[in-house]
Amino acid sequence: MNSYLNADLHCHSVVSDGTLTPEVLATRARGNGVDLWALTDHDEIGGVQRARVAAQAQGMAFLSGVEISVSFASETVHIVGLGFEDSDPRIAQGLAATRGGRDTRAMEMAEQLAQVGIAGAYEGALKYVGNPALISRTHFARFLVEAGVCKETSEVFRKYLTEGKPGFVPHRWANLGDAVHWITQAGGVAIIAHPARYRLTANEEFALFSEFKEHGGQGVEVVTGSHSVAEYATYAAMAREFGLAASRGSDFHGPDESHTDLGKLPALPSGLTPVWELLADRIQPAA
Ligand code: AMP
Ligand code: MN
Ligand code: MN
Ligand code: MN
Repeated sequence: MNSYLNADLHCHSVVSDGTLTPEVLATRARGNGVDLWALTDHDEIGGVQRARVAAQAQGMAFLSGVEISVSFASETVHIVGLGFEDSDPRIAQGLAATRGGRDTRAMEMAEQLAQVGIAGAYEGALKYVGNPALISRTHFARFLVEAGVCKETSEVFRKYLTEGKPGFVPHRWANLGDAVHWITQAGGVAIIAHPARYRLTANEEFALFSEFKEHGGQGVEVVTGSHSVAEYATYAAMAREFGLAASRGSDFHGPDESHTDLGKLPALPSGLTPVWELLADRIQPAA
């Protein structure tokens, strides 16, 4: 497997905040030419087995996946795990604890929205939730569009649900070291997701990469639907500087919300080690 392989190692299903089932995602990925696929739902691996079976049926190589919410330097950072043993009870327990506060948080978000005149947001968001354990800001964003408060979900995240705006509730997610260890203890590779999306100072970003490596993290997303072309180059350089392997994934959530479809990304910049080279013996082959 080489770096020209069409790997898409980051997307979401109805098991977290995507709009398609694992089976429909697998079909869409293969239809778009994906050779190696992972489903990376937020804080939840309930869709992994379904995705694995669907990938096999599509003749597509597969890796287990997850995207873990982590609190770091007063920011929420996402750590993708790939190729871990998904029957390992420690990762299941860690993820259960990570998603545990979501329902209470959601009720507080709804209270804040009610204070600015938007009633019924908790119930409204729940209509979009595929997994009751995983109510997220995305589900609120869909409700606010439905209610006519905003035209699209990107507008919601500019006007609501983010720091300093109505509906933002600070939350304590997993520790960086814990999240990395859940993944690595289960035989997987930990990856910093879409690093350009965090509001970190240069010092904080350096600390994130350094501490992540000290904990045993091995990869960083370079080519992602959440990065601009200029950001590919920035994080290719960071991957080289920190000796991290590079990952590639669309971060696809659904046809109506994601501008980058499954499998429709440029290749990794040259001179980087693709994360799938570290995961060769964890990949379920295509057939
Ligand atoms: P939560 O885990 O509940 O905090 O929700 C985070 C999710 O909200 C992310 O995984 C994205 O799917 C979505 N999200 C966050 N910021 C934005 C944004 N600016 N535009 C669109 N979606 C966003
Ligand atoms: Mn999401
Ligand atoms: Mn993310
Ligand atoms: Mn994601």
